[in-house]
Amino acid sequence: MIDLKQRFAEIRSRITEAARRAGRNPEEIELLAVTKTRELPELIEAWENGLRLFGENRVQEAVRKIAAWPPERRVQWRLIGHLQRNKARKALELFSRIDSLDRLELAFDLQRILSETGRKIDVLIEVNTSGEPSKQGVAPDGLDGLLEGVLQRCPNLTVRGLMTLGPLNADPGEVAASFSRLKDLRDRVSKEFGLEMPELSMGMSDDFEIAIEQGSTCVRLGRALFGPRE
Ligand SMILES: *Cc1c(COP(=O)(O)O)cnc(C)c1O
Repeated sequence: MIDLKQRFAEIRSRITEAARRAGRNPEEIELLAVTKTRELPELIEAWENGLRLFGENRVQEAVRKIAAWPPERRVQWRLIGHLQRNKARKALELFSRIDSLDRLELAFDLQRILSETGRKIDVLIEVNTSGEPSKQGVAPDGLDGLLEGVLQRCPNLTVRGLMTLGPLNADPGEVAASFSRLKDLRDRVSKEFGLEMPELSMGMSDDFEIAIEQGSTCVRLGRALFGPRE
């Protein structure tokens, strides 16, 4: 069994330190445990160490885990990966927030399903700030169009903020620039559209401290908590 207790404490203190360096309150920063590829015993250990936010990036994988999860242990499940349109309904059954909305057709599908019951959910829009073609997310210059479509035609979706992945194998300056771009985008669109969009989900195991210095409100950690993935 992994020694999550100690890792968890270390990560918490690194988050606190990074927040302090940036003159921020560490309580503003959520820690989302990325549970992809991890099995139930590790998730339960994470829960026992105080983690209450779990992120999965595949619907198929999440179905199985969420079904097996002991319901008396309250957690929030968030989708952080690319969502295929034919899995939209399933995703809405499983997740309390979709952090990876990246295109209007998907927003319309979610809206149509949500309107059947009147349920509303929070979403984040995923932006490709690094320009890496392998990355999901709307291009920065597509953000306004996507946001406008959601605002006008998806009353059951509430956009709470933006999400991004930093560039891989980049130097810290480039990584910081990418996160800073996300924050600037958020500042601009929230002003132009008159929206409150407090959330900036950015920062993973290798770059979460940089992300916190750039204003992250949610770091998504897999390897830093659970160790390397197979
Ligand atoms: C896998 C994944 C993470 C976590 O990555 P680590 O490097 O293990 O911390 C965060 N966000 C997304 C969208 C992911 O797919």
